[in-house]
Amino acid sequence: MVMAHGPTLLPTFMPVATQAAIKGLTSQQMEDLGVTLILNNTYHLNLRPGIKILREAGGAHKFQGWRKNLLTDSGGFQLVSLSKFTKITEEGALFASPFTGEPTLLTPEESISIQHAIGADIIMQLDDVVSSLTTGPRVEEAMWRSVRWLDRCIAQHKREGRPEQNLFAIIQGGLDSGLREICLEEMVKRKDSVSGFAIGGLSGGEAKDTFWKMIALCAEKLPDDKPRYSMGIGFAEDLLVCVALGVDMADCVFPTRTARFGVALTRQGPLNLRLNKYSQDLDPIDKDCACPTCRSETSRAFIYHNIGTETATAHAVTQHNIVFQAKLMGDVRDAIMKDEYPAFLKSFFKGYYANGKYPHWIVDSLNSVGVDLLEGLQNTQVVDEDGQNWDYA
Ligand SMILES: [Zn+2]
Repeated sequence: MVMAHGPTLLPTFMPVATQAAIKGLTSQQMEDLGVTLILNNTYHLNLRPGIKILREAGGAHKFQGWRKNLLTDSGGFQLVSLSKFTKITEEGALFASPFTGEPTLLTPEESISIQHAIGADIIMQLDDVVSSLTTGPRVEEAMWRSVRWLDRCIAQHKREGRPEQNLFAIIQGGLDSGLREICLEEMVKRKDSVSGFAIGGLSGGEAKDTFWKMIALCAEKLPDDKPRYSMGIGFAEDLLVCVALGVDMADCVFPTRTARFGVALTRQGPLNLRLNKYSQDLDPIDKDCACPTCRSETSRAFIYHNIGTETATAHAVTQHNIVFQAKLMGDVRDAIMKDEYPAFLKSFFKGYYANGKYPHWIVDSLNSVGVDLLEGLQNTQVVDEDGQNWDYA
C-alpha cells in the first residue's frame, strides 16, 4: 500500500499513538523498529493541542516528528466511549468537552476538515458507532446514518481537495448479518469514492463465534482491490484469523498497554513478568527476538523488579511488543507470498496452544477457509471460551 509517506506492506498491524505519541517510545525509535504506519486519535488531537497548533506545525507528522504513514480515526468512537454527554443527531454528534465542559458539535464535514488539518495519510469517515452489545432498532438507525454520513464525508473530502489523503468507509450493522449485508451493499456502491474499507463495531465484548462470522461476512463482500481494515483487533490469535478471512490491516492499544503492565507477547503466549516466578529469571524475554530489549539481553528479572517503578522497564517491554507484532505480521506476509499460510497457521497455533487446548472459534473460523488446524495432531482438545470441552453436537 503506497501512500505519501512511503510504502506499507500488508497485512499490517498499526500501533496506536493516541496523543501523537506511542506511550514510552519516540517517533525515531518507532521508525528504527521498522514501523511504517501508526494511528493517532482525532478526538484527542482536536482537544489537545488543538487544530490551530497542528495547522501551524504543518500537520501531525511534523508536530510529532513522524516521517512514515499515519492514520487518524474520525473521533466518533471516543465520543461514544469517553463522553458522558454525547447526543447523536442527524447533523452530528453533540458532546461536552472533557476539559471545558463546553458543548461541541462534531459533524461528518468537520471530522473530515479536522483530519485534513492533521494531514494523516488515511482518514476515516465519521460513523454512528453503537456498542457491539447494543440490540434493537438503534443498530439499524446507526447503520443507515453511517451510510448517509459517509456521503457527507465523501462530499467534504472532494470539496477540500486532498487527494494525497485516503478516505476509508466504515462498515457498521452490529452483529446482525442482514444489516451488515445492507451496509456492505450501500458502501461498496461508493467504492470509487473511497480508498479502503474498515470493519467497525466489533471487538466490543461480543462472543468470538459471532465476531469471526461478522468479519468473514464483510471480508467476503468487500472489493478485492481495496485494503480492508479491521478496527480494534490486536491479540495474535485474532490477527491471524482475521488475515485468514481476508483482512489486511488492524489496530489496537493492547500490545502497548499490556507492555506497561509488564506483559510481554511471545509465540508461546503472553508472559506476565509481574509473576514471582520471574524474580530470579535471568533470560531475556525471548531469546529468538530481534528487538533491542532482547538483543541487549535485558533480563526478565530486571523487568519483574522495576516494572511499576522505573519507566525504562515499560519502554523495554513496549519495544519488545511492537517488534513482536511487526515480526508476526511480517512472517504472515512471507507465508502468504510463498503460498504457505495454512502451514504457518498450523505451526503457530501448535506453539501458541502448547497445552493442546484449541479454542473452538479458531478451529471453526479457519475451517471456513479450508484450513484444518487439527489435521494430523494427536492429544488436542477443542475448548469453549471458559476452557471447557467444546461439544460439536
Ligand atoms: Zn524482544
